[in-house]
Amino acid sequence: MLIAWDDDIIKLRDKVMAALNNLFTYNLVEHKVTITKHIVESARDCHLRPERTSKNTKRNCPICMADSYLEEYERKLFKMEWKYDANKGSWRQSTEESALKGI
Ligand SMILES: [Zn+2]
Repeated sequence: MLIAWDDDIIKLRDKVMAALNNLFTYNLVEHKVTITKHIVESARDCHLRPERTSKNTKRNCPICMADSYLEEYERKLFKMEWKYDANKGSWRQSTEESALKGI
């Protein structure tokens, strides 16, 4: 059980990191962050267009995708349950996290 949980956490973390790294590029020499036109336009269409702000419309721009992966990672890590757009749960350690710290 613990190994499967650990594998899931690692896979979800990789998914989150890939989604976040996809949002921008960072130039180490110039210390400059660049966000592509595609990301900006996707986010604009997803978040600012009135016809897409309905609660029934699923948001799926790269920022929303990264957000959903983060939520998935958080739920797995902290055993959060999401109901009716509000999270119920706690920030206490999951059983698996406690077990890992005990090792
Ligand atoms: Zn979006």
